[in-house]
Amino acid sequence: MPVSAPRDDELWSILERETNRQNTTLQLIASENFTSPAVLAATGSVLTNKYAEGYPGRRFYGGNQIVDEAEELARRRVRELFGADHANVQPHSGSNANLAVCLALLEAGDTLLGMRLDQGGHLSHGQAVNISGRYYRGVTYGVTRSDERIDYDEVRDLARQHRPRLIIAGATAYPRLIDAAAFRQIADEVGAMFLFDAAHYAGLIAGGAYPNPVPLADVVTFTTHKTLRGPRGGCILCREEHAKAIDKAVFPTLQGGPLEHVIAAKAVAFFEAAQPEFASYAAQVVANAEALARALAAEGFRLVSGGTENHLVLVDLQPFDAELTGKAAQEVLDRAGITCNKNTIPYDPRSPFVTSGLRLGTPAMTTAGMGTDEMATVASLLARALRGRDDDGELASVREEVTTLCSKFTPYPELAGGLGTRSG
Ligand SMILES: *Cc1c(COP(=O)(O)O)cnc(C)c1O
Repeated sequence: MPVSAPRDDELWSILERETNRQNTTLQLIASENFTSPAVLAATGSVLTNKYAEGYPGRRFYGGNQIVDEAEELARRRVRELFGADHANVQPHSGSNANLAVCLALLEAGDTLLGMRLDQGGHLSHGQAVNISGRYYRGVTYGVTRSDERIDYDEVRDLARQHRPRLIIAGATAYPRLIDAAAFRQIADEVGAMFLFDAAHYAGLIAGGAYPNPVPLADVVTFTTHKTLRGPRGGCILCREEHAKAIDKAVFPTLQGGPLEHVIAAKAVAFFEAAQPEFASYAAQVVANAEALARALAAEGFRLVSGGTENHLVLVDLQPFDAELTGKAAQEVLDRAGITCNKNTIPYDPRSPFVTSGLRLGTPAMTTAGMGTDEMATVASLLARALRGRDDDGELASVREEVTTLCSKFTPYPELAGGLGTRSG
């Protein structure tokens, strides 16, 4: 019996409204982006129907000859893009990629050294609430109070003291470049392995706007949906010596059947990231972040570390308005059509649920076509909304200007009527 069902208006109206939200409000969440129609199409393809447990040429079910080609293509493209020995494109997410690395390289109870969560690190780098901190012993390093950059002396001291088996570099809210060579040296000194989690930077690296850690790290993990602009998912690159252990950790230790439709979309994203236009994109993302930082500073905000060298800025709200929390700011900006997230700043006096900071990123706005001029506009709209947070009229006026700005930089003009009208 062919698949048939009544038109699902309930769900399709949700998709339509979300498409509209993405088209008409400002997306400043540093970990988000807009994929190409080709990535969307592959993600929505019939490859979602195929079970393919195992790896190309070594599957547990039949009928995988064609799917094998898609996964092999993704693996080859990503190896070439980053100059890696080996790639595993199956992790369902960045967190799964990191967990697979731990499963491959560590025994339960081993020590790992990662960055403090409240200073920019990630849950999956040994935090107690995450499996990486429950099955392993997580030790954490942070940034200095003086310049708010990673304290490499502290990393070395902690490494000597705790003798971790794995040292992790990488962050979700760190506006500066990470010195992979310094981490490599420390890891070598204490006989640790070195994982660089490039979740936020993969697209910048692919586009040549951020140093490539692949030659220095034992393993590099990343998400495919942040600056890389692909489908939601994870990826692992490693030296040949770790290839077998990594593949075994992803399947069968951690995951079952791979998401072959997402892997096909990853292949598309790797193809797109290898084009010369993508290098221009990556450079523009960083130029836009610098422009946004300058404009925000002119509005009276303090920038953690004094600025940015990547795709994001971390704003300390305290000098702008001592009463204004990150939580309140996020809520006000939401009402004005400006989407971002509250974030702890280093040595934040407030809790992670309240915070004194905002994290703002340029990857999505840059994909939508905005340049440095628009960043100045964005900073001024943001400041106006926060100054006028008790004034409904002012918020409505900012919201209107946001809509006007977004109408010139619409990520999905071809879906302007919503996905529903096309597919529903
Ligand atoms: C986003 C991120 C991850 C996790 O990605 P998910 O796909 O959300 O699991 C891991 N590490 C870092 C540093 C990240 O920023």
